[in-house]
Amino acid sequence: MLHLEFNSDSENEGIARIVTAAYIMKFDPDMEEMDDIKTAVSEAVTNCIVHAYHPDGKISMDLSDQNGILRIEIKDQGIGIPDVKKAMEPMFTTKPEEERTGMGFSFMEAFMDQVEVISKQGEGTTVI
Ligand code: ATP
Ligand code: MG
Repeated sequence: MLHLEFNSDSENEGIARIVTAAYIMKFDPDMEEMDDIKTAVSEAVTNCIVHAYHPDGKISMDLSDQNGILRIEIKDQGIGIPDVKKAMEPMFTTKPEEERTGMGFSFMEAFMDQVEVISKQGEGTTVI
């Protein structure tokens, strides 16, 4: 298990990807698996950076595995997601003016076996 906490700076997204890549090396992933997992982490972390805070706050990432199942929990303590079901619909975005496509959760779902989003007021958690 690995716990990481970092500020919601966009430069930390790259660090989250690298830490994830290092953590999953023990599974001897192929290039495609490596890319898929890194992309999913990127999307989840970017969501916390872009949507959760104004102007910034803390993001935590917990990586763990049990019986060969990798679990990555990415959490913020920001504004929360009022309607998770709607947020997860393809092409739903609350920031169209920033040229967001609303495909982040769809990518996570395409690249990972399971995606769980839990949100209450003042908190957003994505488990992939
Ligand atoms: P893209 O990921 O394509 O750049 P996007 O981030 O808007 O666009 P999704 O990642 O699918 O698309 O997220 C959909 C919506 O869910 C966002 O527009 C935002 O309203 C909400 N959302 C996602 N993550 C968070 C979060 N951590 N905190 C608050 N709102 C969030
Ligand atoms: Mg997104």
